[in-house]
Amino acid sequence: MAVIVQKYGGTSVANAARIKYVAGRILRERKKGNDVVVVVSAMGDMTDDLITLAEQITKRPSDRELDMLLSTGEQVSVALLAMAIQEQGGKALSFTGAQIGIVTDPSHTKARILDIDTTRLRQALREKNVVVVAGFQGKTRTGEITTLGRGGSDLTAVALAKALKARCCEIYTDVDGVYTADPRVVPAAQKINTISYDEILEMASLGAKVMHNRSIEVGKKFNVPIYVRNSRHFKEGTLITKETKAMEEVTVRGVALTEDEAKITFFRVPDRPGIAARLFKTLADAKVNIDMIIQNKTETNTTDISFTVYKNELQKALDVVRRAAKELKAGHIDCDENIAKVSIVGVGMRSHSGIASKMFGALARKKINIDMISTSEIKISCVVDGKKGRLAAQTIHKEFGLDKKITRE
Ligand code: ADP
Ligand code: ASP
Ligand code: MG
Repeated sequence: MAVIVQKYGGTSVANAARIKYVAGRILRERKKGNDVVVVVSAMGDMTDDLITLAEQITKRPSDRELDMLLSTGEQVSVALLAMAIQEQGGKALSFTGAQIGIVTDPSHTKARILDIDTTRLRQALREKNVVVVAGFQGKTRTGEITTLGRGGSDLTAVALAKALKARCCEIYTDVDGVYTADPRVVPAAQKINTISYDEILEMASLGAKVMHNRSIEVGKKFNVPIYVRNSRHFKEGTLITKETKAMEEVTVRGVALTEDEAKITFFRVPDRPGIAARLFKTLADAKVNIDMIIQNKTETNTTDISFTVYKNELQKALDVVRRAAKELKAGHIDCDENIAKVSIVGVGMRSHSGIASKMFGALARKKINIDMISTSEIKISCVVDGKKGRLAAQTIHKEFGLDKKITRE
């Protein structure tokens, strides 16, 4: 008997009617004779609502208490889904991440899974239950509740699929699969039938929130087949799998946009060896994630350093940077929250040239100024004015012919 892991996102369980419908789908899978483990997210926007609530209490909630609060969202949905399955005549048991043995490191709000003890889970499966697991959470070795970062239920699902040697991991969401761009940003985006782990990993890291990036890392490492599908119907969806030769024929597979970052500029930093190391070490010690960095020498033996951070860590970053500016006797600090990062991704970029100039040319024709650039083997990212992010994504998408229907593969 095969194990199938299914994950249902927030919109798929947004209200009682949706939960009942999902319960029916799960029982349909169960009737095929497979063991089914279901991972569920919090209902609708509940996680956002809980964050808003915390912000009404304090601008700087402690990460431990934030995890304690946010983990409750998933606890509501697993209990309701288990009830719905039971109501429809099935056997089901719901569990929190801690109960089901998901052990993480102690990095509150962005914990990493260290181990999964599947004893309890296997026992529940043996007793013919559908096992319903709260996504996005775990506990540390000392019993503290942690969460895995926004969108982290995908990671719970893929990690469980690996631990249980499941046949596959199915991610059910509110779109038909992975598209060439977020269909909400680029209406002409096309559904991709098959995509490599590396491409979706880059797209997810660059803002395509259809999949959590670390879930793809786990999928890639352990070769877990992942299907992304719409929870409202039974169409094919997208298969995320190992790279094949044919995939390299497509230079640009997709476009991603993120408006979640802010740029901090540190003016007139003394231009001496070790200064950048000190600045970024203090940020790392405060557990602030840095994305892009650029440094420009000025005429007065100083440099200006700009870097981007995630908006939800901006306050923390600014606190650190202001202290560092005093210590380093640097000039003033500027912060720009009105930026967008637009990126192109494709494994074919390794073997094709002229991609960057094509991207920059398309932006120039629309009079979109490029503020920062970063590249890797399979991606190019540009930071632009926040107001022009969507236009930039649509422009590049068209430039690389991504709005044509994908028929092959
Ligand atoms: P869930 O709650 O099911 O986890 P998410 O909101 O996290 O759903 O992810 C689904 C959303 O991801 C879609 O509604 C879509 O707007 C967005 N998205 C961003 N980039 C892409 C992409 N390349 N392909 C498909 N969806 C994308
Ligand atoms: N509920 C969590 C979030 O909104 C986790 C998830 O949906 O995957 O980020
Ligand atoms: Mg999600």
